Amino acid sequence: MSQTGGVEPGKLLIDGRWEDARSGRTFATLNPADESVITQVAEAGLPDVDAAVLAARKALESGPWSKMSAADRGKILWRMGELILERLAHVGLLETLDTGKTLFDSGKIELPMAAQIFQFYAGAASKIAGKTPSSRSDAFLFTLKEPVGVVAAIVPWNFPFLLSSWKVAPALAAGCCVILKPASQTPLTALELGRIGQDAGLPPGVLQILPGAGSGAGMALVRHPAVDKIAFTGSTEVGKTILREAASTLKRVSVELGGKSPNIVFADADQEAAMRGAFNGIFYNKGEVCAAGSRLFVERSIHDRFVAQLAERTEAIVLGDPREKGTRMGPVVSAQQLDVVLGYIASGTEDGARVAAGGRRASDINGGKGYFVRPTVFDGVTPEMRIAREEIFGPVLAVLPFDDVSDVVAKANGTMYGLAAGVWTRDVAKAHKVARAIRAGTVWVNTYNLYDPSLPFGGFKQSGFGRDLGIEAIDGYLETKSVWIDLGR
Ligand code: NAD
Repeated sequence: MSQTGGVEPGKLLIDGRWEDARSGRTFATLNPADESVITQVAEAGLPDVDAAVLAARKALESGPWSKMSAADRGKILWRMGELILERLAHVGLLETLDTGKTLFDSGKIELPMAAQIFQFYAGAASKIAGKTPSSRSDAFLFTLKEPVGVVAAIVPWNFPFLLSSWKVAPALAAGCCVILKPASQTPLTALELGRIGQDAGLPPGVLQILPGAGSGAGMALVRHPAVDKIAFTGSTEVGKTILREAASTLKRVSVELGGKSPNIVFADADQEAAMRGAFNGIFYNKGEVCAAGSRLFVERSIHDRFVAQLAERTEAIVLGDPREKGTRMGPVVSAQQLDVVLGYIASGTEDGARVAAGGRRASDINGGKGYFVRPTVFDGVTPEMRIAREEIFGPVLAVLPFDDVSDVVAKANGTMYGLAAGVWTRDVAKAHKVARAIRAGTVWVNTYNLYDPSLPFGGFKQSGFGRDLGIEAIDGYLETKSVWIDLGR
């Protein structure tokens, strides 16, 4: 364990206690950079889900949490933000070991952003308010905003800590109790979030952590009659399964799903800025980003030059162990994801696209161990090819040319997804026009892949519904109760 700094085996956090799974089962979590076992983690099953749901209901209905003022909830959330920053080095290293993302990305970008999110919702907790319509003289009408109840937050492996914070922070601000199920590939930092919640003063049962399989603990949470809401981030396919399963108990559901986002570069754009935006838009976090700008549309007059420069920069990316300073890109998250990405690279070639950069597994790192793929740029891509239509969720870019605004809007919208988009131009009117015409939950102009706690994020079309971030996210964890008090005639 010297290689990993001796990571403790992971347990389940249920009702304020760290426990083994009732079945005694554990699973190994691997370091994708060298395929070694980081540690064993308890695997939650149905009896553990039952125990956690019971504890959550008790905390919600009769524990100190149910009586706590919104301002006091806010103080705990603020403290959680502080503790994230105090534990940055430790939690950041675990995130890097589990996911393969660089230490810079986990420690300098994603964890500080998670701290900001907790502190944004710390302030928001005490601003939750109903309404008092004044439409009647014979009655006093008002609405109360009440927590939706027990929330199961199910998150993917690409941003385990950050995406957990997107759900846990607003749900706690609203007064809900949360059971967090991280992805089985990346359970370690969710456990740290549980510890941070405990140390910040969350009462038992308010935030519980259940690592485990989607088909095990995940499905048990979705089917559980005493869970009120599923807050899900993951693939569109699993999102659809969850919607079907949640229908039988009519749970509230929010689904943040996949994408195939267009990033559009007009000839009048600041070329250097657009180049950086195209590059980071696809290669940040190895392309394992729901909003990755994986379809790059470049205006025909600058297409060839732009692709050549982008390919050159892509070839220069330093792959390696994500803990090392000089590394620009780490391995993809798992052997399974490596197969998926290599399969798409093969399909692009078979369909007749041209590999402008990368296009292969990198076997020259760590003695051939680890799931490294050379970041890949395809040009000569047409809209029907699988690499232009399907979410790859890896460092693979499809570049397509376009002629004018109406051509690119039609091509950009020609997808079942609608998560995000980018537009690069110096023409303000054009930027506004395209931003309105694109059917997506977020449009970035002259930038890409930026998030702010105050700005809601979520999908149109088959990228899902509901919103993370912003005040809007809190609405997803609240019920509206209407009260009518008769004043006599
Ligand atoms: P996934 O759908 O396979 O898994 C996501 C989570 O769901 C995991 O915790 C998994 O264990 C669980 N799960 C799987 N099957 C389940 C089931 N039947 N019942 C309950 N839970 C189940 O997704 P992934 O491979 O971990 O993540 C990649 C996907 O996530 C991509 O499609 C990506 O676009 C999407 N994503 C979306 C956003 C967004 O905000 N829209 C953000 C990040 C990732």
